[in-house]
Amino acid sequence: CTKEQGQPSIMIYDVNLLKNQIHRLKLEEGLLQALSNDELELHFQPQFNIHSGKVRGFEALVRWQHPKLGAVSPGEFIPIAEENGTILPIGLWVLRRACELYQEMLMVPFPEAVISVNISALQLNDSYFPKHVSQILSETGLPPHLLELEITESMLIASIDAANIRLKELTQLGVRIALDDFGTGYSSLHYLNRLPLHLVKLDKSFIRDICKNNEGRITESIIRLVQDLDIQAVAEGVESYDQLYLLKTWKCDIVQGFLLSKPLREQEIAAFITKQTSVAENVITASSHP
Ligand code: C2E
Ligand code: MG
Ligand code: MG
Ligand code: MG
Repeated sequence: CTKEQGQPSIMIYDVNLLKNQIHRLKLEEGLLQALSNDELELHFQPQFNIHSGKVRGFEALVRWQHPKLGAVSPGEFIPIAEENGTILPIGLWVLRRACELYQEMLMVPFPEAVISVNISALQLNDSYFPKHVSQILSETGLPPHLLELEITESMLIASIDAANIRLKELTQLGVRIALDDFGTGYSSLHYLNRLPLHLVKLDKSFIRDICKNNEGRITESIIRLVQDLDIQAVAEGVESYDQLYLLKTWKCDIVQGFLLSKPLREQEIAAFITKQTSVAENVITASSHP
């Protein structure tokens, strides 16, 4: 209760709103120390060539173990890190760690595996970013053509021309560019031939319902359209055999999803290499009409 000009008035707080705000403040504050306290970790989700069934690469996905709140998903903390700027040091840490892990664990079993790293708008806007990338590549020894940077359409809205300049600087280093979550943003098709893209990742929402007639037709057309522009098509969020079968029939290039492998913790990679790779390969190559 407050008293203003002698008039008693009552302020009613929405308890949930308040709880959310407190939670958010804790995350904001926590992010400032997450790096120095060693609370971040990378998981790697394998991606497969749909024709051969072989591993084609790994997507690095960041995880945050908050000391009091426990695991916080990137979907929750990345937007906050973008707002308070901590995404810049976090993004560089992710990039370096992903390159290091490739050298430590993946290079021997998968010498040609591509390492995909998600980057945020703030990183792409940073004029020093290409320099940082080049430095990390030379320090970790990852061949540039094995690094793939994933951007999203929402990052391009502000200025496609500015984004394009940065993307060209990056491709000149030899790294590859993927457009992530394709189809969830605005005027998607417009971007396809205006950006130096090597891959387009069809958003999960375009994969979920492909077994329903009309939904599937759109997805099939997007795959063909993308490939006509000499861009590879990746399906993410593949969870069922039926989806895999259809994607194979439509000659999508690359698949990623829980059906084949969830994102792996560092400690799980060795077991994946010895046991799961051939299981996934068999699932893909044996995939036939249900
Ligand atoms: P994304 O880049 O589109 O990553 C794919 C997300 O889908 C991951 O969620 C992954 O765990 C999840 N996923 C994979 N297979 C399946 C499946 O079969 N079914 C379903 N339902 N989901 C699947 P995650 O790890 O929670 O990441 C969420 C988003 O956070 C990412 O979406 C990406 O945009 C962002 N993110 C993650 N790591 C980083 C990072 O290091 N930097 C930046 N800037 N963003 C990141
Ligand atoms: Mg991604
Ligand atoms: Mg995505
Ligand atoms: Mg994304």
